[in-house]
Amino acid sequence: MNVNEFFKIDNSLLELDKKAQDSCKDIFEKIDATTEYNQLKVLKAFIDNGVSEASFAGSTGYGYDDRGREILERVMADCMGAEDSIMRHNFVSGTHTLTVALFGVLRPGDKVLVLTGRPYDTITGVFGIDEKTDGSLSDFGVEYHQVDLKADGTPNHEEIKNRLENENFKMAYIQRSRGYSTRPTLTIDDIEVLCNIVKSTSPDTVIMVDNCYGEFVEKKEPTEVGADLIAGSLIKNPGGGIAPTGGYIAGRKDLVERCACRLTCPGVGKEVGATLGHSRELYLGLFSAPHVVGEALKTAVYASALFGLMGYKVSPEVNENRGDIIQCVTLDTAENLVAFCQGMQSGAPVDSFVVPEPWDMPGYTDPVIMAAGAFTLGASIELSADGPLRPPYAAWMQGGLNFHSAHAGVLLAAQKMLEKKGN
Ligand SMILES: *Cc1c(COP(=O)(O)O)cnc(C)c1O
Repeated sequence: MNVNEFFKIDNSLLELDKKAQDSCKDIFEKIDATTEYNQLKVLKAFIDNGVSEASFAGSTGYGYDDRGREILERVMADCMGAEDSIMRHNFVSGTHTLTVALFGVLRPGDKVLVLTGRPYDTITGVFGIDEKTDGSLSDFGVEYHQVDLKADGTPNHEEIKNRLENENFKMAYIQRSRGYSTRPTLTIDDIEVLCNIVKSTSPDTVIMVDNCYGEFVEKKEPTEVGADLIAGSLIKNPGGGIAPTGGYIAGRKDLVERCACRLTCPGVGKEVGATLGHSRELYLGLFSAPHVVGEALKTAVYASALFGLMGYKVSPEVNENRGDIIQCVTLDTAENLVAFCQGMQSGAPVDSFVVPEPWDMPGYTDPVIMAAGAFTLGASIELSADGPLRPPYAAWMQGGLNFHSAHAGVLLAAQKMLEKKGN
């Protein structure tokens, strides 16, 4: 045990820490096996596509003939088992990337069917679900439809089949990660089942998956089990903690081309886009991603074990299959939630001296508290946590560039909770 040489941790907590780490051993071995598989998959993609030092050179202006950019997009396609990809720093966020993909594929009059209940908060405005937000898909005449999840939080297969049999949908949309909801995350097997239902019922319907937080968690990606198009953020899993910003879209070549024509211009597509100096970071981040995702997964599993032993409700549980890097811990009281975030922040490599407080975030009904001490602003592949100040006072945490430091961050979150209780 080294952590108490550097940080003050109560003996009672050190005992729980040891127990928690012991209970994680077998799961860590499984995570390592997946990491190794995905790391070799990525390495092979680098080799097969002949990545060289010249690939890192940046372009300026229009970015014509940027070989490094073209090779990176071949590498990413291979990593995702897809025909083609766009991977650019020009995407400003995950939401922007998903928006480009949706607008790239859909046309006025088209109907979308979301198979996994109400989507992630920021996407609701893109569809224009509650109101016809200016510039939303509904503003452009794309019809939104949704099949609610069943009471247990899993997709309603019968209802999905029924809707697809009776109506004409251009796109079936799946959200892989739970996001900040309490439903279970979809595993790749779950996604494969959904893809088979869509393909057997309505073969022309495009299957798109919001792949945020899911990349490299399992040995396959949705594009390897039937999805036509996936998209995600580079300040989450596939950026490996190194990409400074950006996103990617991968999938069927014709669909990726349509998305490229939306990102840049019709008729121009993937041929332009200066990489400035960012190609090397995107390559290095992608190369590191399987390992970093493994570290983040270990952090989530460990936190599940530790807070479970402390008597709190955790989801997923230690032994549960995981489809993303998110861990939810139900902390029961507002003091616990605040202490948890403050303790985690105190163990961050950046801004450790900042004391987070709950604040009224635009768009949220209750005050929210966040812990984030990251090299990249808002990067949730780095150890971070947040939660709304309302019962059951759940903290959603994710990330961790390496287990050793993230382990200390989680332990400090628990330590702060003990200290607050003692007072
Ligand atoms: C993070 C995330 C997004 C995109 O969010 P940004 O903050 O815009 O990057 C979309 N869907 C899910 C499920 C996510 O986790």
